[in-house]
Amino acid sequence: MGAARLARKGGMAYEVQSGGLPTGPPPDVRHFMARRKLIYEGKAKILYEGPEPGTYVQYFKDDATAGNGAKKEVIEGKGVLNNRLSEYFMVGLGNIGIPTHFIRRLNMREQLIRQVEIIPLEVIVRNFAAGSMAKRLGMEEGAALPRPIVEFSYKDDKLGDPLVPEEYIIAFGWASQQDMDDIVSMALRVNDFMSGVMYGVGIKLIDFKIEIGRVWDNDFPRLVVADEISPDCCRLWDVETGQKLDKDVFRQDLGNLADAYTEVARRLGVLPSNVTHRPKPTLIN
Ligand code: C5P
Repeated sequence: MGAARLARKGGMAYEVQSGGLPTGPPPDVRHFMARRKLIYEGKAKILYEGPEPGTYVQYFKDDATAGNGAKKEVIEGKGVLNNRLSEYFMVGLGNIGIPTHFIRRLNMREQLIRQVEIIPLEVIVRNFAAGSMAKRLGMEEGAALPRPIVEFSYKDDKLGDPLVPEEYIIAFGWASQQDMDDIVSMALRVNDFMSGVMYGVGIKLIDFKIEIGRVWDNDFPRLVVADEISPDCCRLWDVETGQKLDKDVFRQDLGNLADAYTEVARRLGVLPSNVTHRPKPTLIN
């Protein structure tokens, strides 16, 4: 790399010439990074203050983590793919009347979202046994469940996001009984939508996680789907071959994660069929 050194900022790896400006990120990204107020940086995304009150800009990083951050890598193109895929799913949910925090995609890595109060829960819906459920109950991965199961984890990295019963959630005031009823019915509607969309492109939706936020419309609270919906938070298996097309590819070292996400995006028509993720994903619109 000679006089240049590798610098990392905002989740992007790029080169800095000695004594000069970064050579890597395009000028619009540098400009954006310089002027936006950072609200919160998570493992895969960054939130910046939005251009209007009540909005944030959500920036998708290329960072992949597993095991609560124990395993970490930068996967080139992941952020672009997740930004586009999350837009695709959030817009689809909006179209069938499920409210989300999504307003619009701004560019390859960023989307404009509504500010919400995040309910500190991971809402997980399972159609087939896998992951922590299969492990906890000694079930075979891929076994069909008698019906979709909704479960909740308390969002706390230090505690490892422990599974919690609804009783805890209500007793500790993280959400009300009415909220929980609404969250379960919303999660099941998201499951129906996501299962159908994925099955239509030959992919089985094994399970997924969503987060729910609360917004206030004139003192009236409403729940909306927040955070992201992408292969980072779903299990997606090819219907024919059982090939994994989700973050388990990274968790279990099964191959190239960006290739798997590119395949999901290609099947959904989000990427043209002749495009690979290298050097950069190409968006249709
Ligand atoms: O690990 P587990 O089997 O409980 O995960 C269930 C689903 O929730 C998987 O699709 C996984 O990708 C997602 N998940 C997530 N973020 C977490 C934990 C689980 O997106 N922190």
